Amino acid sequence: MQLRYTYRLYPDAGQAQALARAFGCARVAFNDGLAARNAAREAGQPYITDAELSARLTAAKKTPERAWLAEVSSVALQQALADLNTAYRNFFASVAGKRKGPKIAPPRFRSRKDSRQAIRFTRNARFTVLDNGRLRLPKVGDVPVRWSRPLPAEPSSVTVIKDAAGRYFASFVVQACPEPLPETDRECGVDLGLTHFAVLDDGTKISSPRFLRRAEKKLKRAQRNLSRKQQGSANRNKARVKVARAHAHVTSARRDFHHKLSTTLIRDNQAVYVEDLAVKGLARTKLAKSVHDAGWSAFVLMLEYKAARYGRDFRRTGRFEPTSRVCSACGVNDGPKPLSVRKWTCAACGTVHDRDVNAAKNIAALGRREARNARGGQVRPAATLAPAGEAGSRRGAA
Ligand SMILES: [Zn+2]
Repeated sequence: MQLRYTYRLYPDAGQAQALARAFGCARVAFNDGLAARNAAREAGQPYITDAELSARLTAAKKTPERAWLAEVSSVALQQALADLNTAYRNFFASVAGKRKGPKIAPPRFRSRKDSRQAIRFTRNARFTVLDNGRLRLPKVGDVPVRWSRPLPAEPSSVTVIKDAAGRYFASFVVQACPEPLPETDRECGVDLGLTHFAVLDDGTKISSPRFLRRAEKKLKRAQRNLSRKQQGSANRNKARVKVARAHAHVTSARRDFHHKLSTTLIRDNQAVYVEDLAVKGLARTKLAKSVHDAGWSAFVLMLEYKAARYGRDFRRTGRFEPTSRVCSACGVNDGPKPLSVRKWTCAACGTVHDRDVNAAKNIAALGRREARNARGGQVRPAATLAPAGEAGSRRGAA
């Protein structure tokens, strides 16, 4: 299985300049490829293949307009095309209905103003972690790294990221062996909510920690402050940087919280069941923003890859199961329960339910049932890649 490890980078002024050039060139390679495919489509020509696009990039470097692309690692440019190809494949699969989850939009042009700039180097770009702890990047130099924890194995690629707050990160992909934890007979259903971040079927309620709430408050204040500043003023620019910093702080605080909670849940339970987030049906409601802020999907992905890594069972339980309205004691559907209803009494058996704990109990029961069915059928091998936004260390990439 593949895991991602992220560390803070501290490039000097010259290295930062070289990185800016590399981000820019990768962006141009990406945008040129996208423009070429768009033009072909509009002219009614066939889709330009990955190989053809790559050949065109190599040819473009020999023209005066694009000669400057040769100043950066060609691997980083080819990886930008690989990103474009992946974006297209995901889009096509989504259109054809072969992809789960929300519909994917066609690739968009990258902008100099995007809050996140990134380039990827693979093994054949000959990036190296030097004995002195620096990261040698082709045509950039030896960049100092803050090793917040050891890299467990030789990395197969590294993505260098600059976030909106101007911080640099190196995100390594490493091949890791599963490390099964000793078995336990505990299982756990998790209901993700807005009043509490998570509620477990044993009644435990987990709220987001104070340091995260404080960071979120500070971000809101910074955002309000920014909205009051005059367009184009020097003060507005200062306020914008403050918002970016506060935002970066919230992102890493939230990630830290998700990491701790997902590690605890996976360590303490043989199986963890979570409701498929699509079930919540909140994606297109006014709650969507809070859902997005809560970072449920990032958290669920952490549970998934940690389960694969530590030999635990993880399951997103079935769609369209009304976990909030079915009584976990007798199984009777008690009818719709608006979000404002926190407690209810089952009309059939008289059990008094906490809304979220009842949902978590239903999720656990559903998970057990689905796990049994899966064991009867085929078991999918565990192969999970930590998602791109996922960072292992405390000060991960934003
Ligand atoms: Zn009941």
